[in-house]
Amino acid sequence: MLMNERTCICGKMAKFNIGTIDFSVGKTSIVIHNLPHFSCEFCEYVSFDPEVNVDRALRYAYQNGLKEIDFKKKGEVSMITYKIDVADELKREIEQAIEDKVDEIADGEQFTVICGGKAICGTRSGDIVVIERIVEKIL
Ligand SMILES: [Zn+2]
Repeated sequence: MLMNERTCICGKMAKFNIGTIDFSVGKTSIVIHNLPHFSCEFCEYVSFDPEVNVDRALRYAYQNGLKEIDFKKKGEVSMITYKIDVADELKREIEQAIEDKVDEIADGEQFTVICGGKAICGTRSGDIVVIERIVEKIL
């Protein structure tokens, strides 16, 4: 269970939020969306709960050349990431479609889900799903 507040390094209270945080890994900047964190409005220091594995997410993004990832912990899929540009509205639909299908998607295999008339192609690797391609359905 996550707490709503914790004491910041400056002595004030840092508040719990779920949002977007920018990181730098070497010379690469990586953005993590939907990341649970504590932020202090006095000194702007950001910290994380030990169960929020930021390092793993950053390592994964860096190794796969992803500049932006979505940090989620829902069911078996803890993270859905995109190798392509996807509108936020479509991302929500894709995430819903994948959550519904996650039991049918084998680990380490490519899959396709149909979502809003489009074929969404991706690969699952453990609890991380990478969306690689969106094919407009041809009628
Ligand atoms: Zn502070």
